[in-house]
Amino acid sequence: MKKITILGATGTIGINTLEVIKLHKNNFEVIALTANKNIERLARLCLEWLPKYAVMADTDAAEQLEKLLKNSSTQVLSGVEGLTKVASLDEVDMVMAGIVGGAGLIPTLAAAQAGKRVLLANKEALVMSGQLFMDAIKQNNAELLPIDSEHNAIFQCLPNSEQAGIQKQGVSRILLTASGGPFRTFSLDQLKNVTPAQACNHPNWSMGQKISVDSATMMNKGLEVIEACWLFNAKSEDIEVVLHPQSIIHSLVEYIDGSLLAQLGNPDMRTPIAYALGWPARIESGVKRLSLIDVARLDFEAMDFNRFPCLQLAYDAMQAGGTSTVILNAANEIAVQAFLQEKLKFIEIPKVIETTLSNLSGRNADSLEIILEDDTKARELSQEIVNSI
Ligand code: NAD
Ligand code: MG
Repeated sequence: MKKITILGATGTIGINTLEVIKLHKNNFEVIALTANKNIERLARLCLEWLPKYAVMADTDAAEQLEKLLKNSSTQVLSGVEGLTKVASLDEVDMVMAGIVGGAGLIPTLAAAQAGKRVLLANKEALVMSGQLFMDAIKQNNAELLPIDSEHNAIFQCLPNSEQAGIQKQGVSRILLTASGGPFRTFSLDQLKNVTPAQACNHPNWSMGQKISVDSATMMNKGLEVIEACWLFNAKSEDIEVVLHPQSIIHSLVEYIDGSLLAQLGNPDMRTPIAYALGWPARIESGVKRLSLIDVARLDFEAMDFNRFPCLQLAYDAMQAGGTSTVILNAANEIAVQAFLQEKLKFIEIPKVIETTLSNLSGRNADSLEIILEDDTKARELSQEIVNSI
């Protein structure tokens, strides 16, 4: 019986994780479920799963949840302390890191420090704390399994999971596939007036709002390039982004002998989630089998960095190193939130990020304090930039 904490249980990743666990109820026990403010949904999940702990990041929401669960055995906790506690409980074997954004950093890092199997969906945590996070995994004998479909595919295509560095394993390149999002074929002119609803309407994947907008701007792919650098000990120049509109090939690894290995499947997060839950064994995911005849064809295109400047901003921040990626991530979160609230235009998102990056300089990301300090600074500055537009 493997015991699991699900951070971000009410989100798309959290719900998909519970769907997979439902197929293996004899092998997994849910110890803790967490959410930010969605009281009704977390209450419903608690009544269904009877976890020992439920955590609401928001303290007011926690009080209300406690009232709703007063007749149940679930103990309600709140805030970052509550999240950190359930991510590092002795009895817990694995932690699904499914919180969106920088809010996931501290609890995800706590799971690594407590030596858990970390199922990493929360890419922003790794983008912010790359070196620190990878060191915490190694030093505490934790296991790190990528949930992001591309990184899960790469993990499956690499010869072994050790962090030896891709060159040592005869790998020449990593090819990260990108669907291109809802605006792949839009001209710069058409991009000027797109709405949040259009941006959130992803052609292949059903995801939370923030990652959907990131997929539309291509910042998601930028964050994924950074994520891949840390996960696979690669340099950003070893990673190439290839547009693949069908989202059937989830990414590829190229070897020095000219071989390309790919992982294919229907675009459904339950596959990488099941892979990480069961690893090294394979377990059922509930995902429909891929029919190559129905797919019929796979297309590939080059990335257009002009229409989607966010990807280049991410490459540049990774190259600059240190807290530059913290600043990139913070500015992006502020800009995306402003866009979702219709306070910023879609094409202004990269402008806010670029201006923030050019006004703040990154430094060595040696400690959590430095990372959080630069995160706060970048959020404040990018908010000012949004307000001034
Ligand atoms: P979502 O918006 O559907 O869910 C986010 C979850 O995080 C919710 O449970 C919410 O309550 C919680 N949360 C939000 N703010 C919080 C805060 N301040 N403190 C604590 N908890 C908070 O998002 P999602 O689509 O499930 O994505 C989650 C993460 O997984 C993101 O980092 C995303 O990039 C990554 N990811 C998602 C997908 C996908 O298919 N959805 C694919 C790859 C990677
Ligand atoms: Mg992805």
